[in-house]
Amino acid sequence: MFTAGSPSFRIKKIDHVAVAVADVDAVAPLWQAALGLGVTVREVVASQKTEAALLPIGDSNIELISPKGNVGLEKFLEKRGPGIHHVAVEVEGIEALLAFLKQAGIPLIDEEPRIGARGHKVAFVHPKALGGVLVELVEEAH
Ligand code: ZN
Repeated sequence: MFTAGSPSFRIKKIDHVAVAVADVDAVAPLWQAALGLGVTVREVVASQKTEAALLPIGDSNIELISPKGNVGLEKFLEKRGPGIHHVAVEVEGIEALLAFLKQAGIPLIDEEPRIGARGHKVAFVHPKALGGVLVELVEEAH
């Protein structure tokens, strides 16, 4: 765990598990029919070149994402088909955390946060840092 001297950030919870799909509107009804989960937020995320639908579960969410010009996500779907794409953890102090990770030599996709879905600050940690899992850091914009 993080030790004293790095108190300016905190990992809080899983914000969402993202599922890559070819068509958000085709897949959302499956989640409704099988698990009773409804879409509360539906948006095009310009910064990520994706479409997203958010399906809350308690304190967390399933996020369905499909590419809207996002080449990485298109390639993911071509190579691996639809399925779990990334896990997002909610953090406090995303800039401090990114600085800490960078200084620790953890490979990052984003060294600075971008504005993602729901207007939150987001940044991705490279999957090679975490055993093959793409992890997104999310902080609510205030
Ligand atoms: Zn996400």
